[in-house]
Amino acid sequence: MIMFRMVLATFFISLISSVLLSLSILPQRMDMNRNKSNRFQNPGLRQGNQFSGLLKWQFNRIGKVPSFSSARDLFPVIEPKWDIINSKPNELTITWVGHSTLLVQIEGLTILTDPIFSERCSPSQLFGPRRFTPVPFPPEALPAIDAVVISHNHYDHLDEATVKALGNQPVWFVPRGVKRWFVKRGITNVIEMDWWQEYQLGRVTIVCTPSQHFSGRSPFDRNRTLWSSWAIIGTEQRFWFAGDTGHSPLFSEVGIKYGPFDLAAIPIGSYGPEWFMLPIHVNPAQAIQVHKDVRARQSVGIHYGTFILSDEPVTEPVELLKEEREKAGMRESEFFTIQHGETRIIKNNKETG
Ligand code: ZN
Ligand code: ZN
Repeated sequence: MIMFRMVLATFFISLISSVLLSLSILPQRMDMNRNKSNRFQNPGLRQGNQFSGLLKWQFNRIGKVPSFSSARDLFPVIEPKWDIINSKPNELTITWVGHSTLLVQIEGLTILTDPIFSERCSPSQLFGPRRFTPVPFPPEALPAIDAVVISHNHYDHLDEATVKALGNQPVWFVPRGVKRWFVKRGITNVIEMDWWQEYQLGRVTIVCTPSQHFSGRSPFDRNRTLWSSWAIIGTEQRFWFAGDTGHSPLFSEVGIKYGPFDLAAIPIGSYGPEWFMLPIHVNPAQAIQVHKDVRARQSVGIHYGTFILSDEPVTEPVELLKEEREKAGMRESEFFTIQHGETRIIKNNKETG
């Protein structure tokens, strides 16, 4: 049964990806305005013929993909510190739900990043990539959520069941073009933003910042909606969520305009095979470069250890991060990983120096 599901999952990913990526060979203008075919584009990035690359990747990965069953139990899940979470801490506090989902508390606000609580990141809960590390708690256990930031519309970042569970209570911040999807589902408390736009929410400013990625939920909507990272700027502390991204030259600009950040959440997984994935995902060495570019005092690794979406062994991102951190002469606290469910308080930068 597991084997059958794996084959089905691989087939599903291959099918969707091949159609999506085949569309990318259309000529595109090199700016973030929509091009003639009304699609968004990464500025300055030439990705070449991704369709032939995708076929090569799919052919080469046969028999090499990490299996769901061998990945289970590799990442212990722990209980969040509910007493801290429910006390509405003033100091920047994060709790990792898994993948790119973080519960972030900053200056009196409780914010979620790319929330997914579903078993699978897929158009259906019957097939598609399945979670190998369980969620630490169900969405019903969440405290009242003030805001949610969404980086883009891929299934592992925009989950329909989770969106419906949260409903209209939080303010949803989404990149240009994504609001329509929410409105169709009756969710109207949505602020849609372009890169570099700012929005004041309570004591914090929410800024839609760039990333280098792509979008699409079907074979027909590749790059029709924008992708982004998000900066959350408080009066005392600053947090940056990288979203899903390759190494963008615009990150230095984010650092200049909005850094330094007390904490950045940066992906460290989904980079295998690198020859194919690196334009749209970072490896741990590049994640450290992103950390430096945006001027983060501390960073936490995300987008690993939860779903199998790429070829690298599931424990490799953490191992490589350690190696790369040592090469760069950085302390562990400067770019760390936490356990699924773990709550961590991020001290004010004035105290950490
Ligand atoms: Zn993505
Ligand atoms: Zn992703």
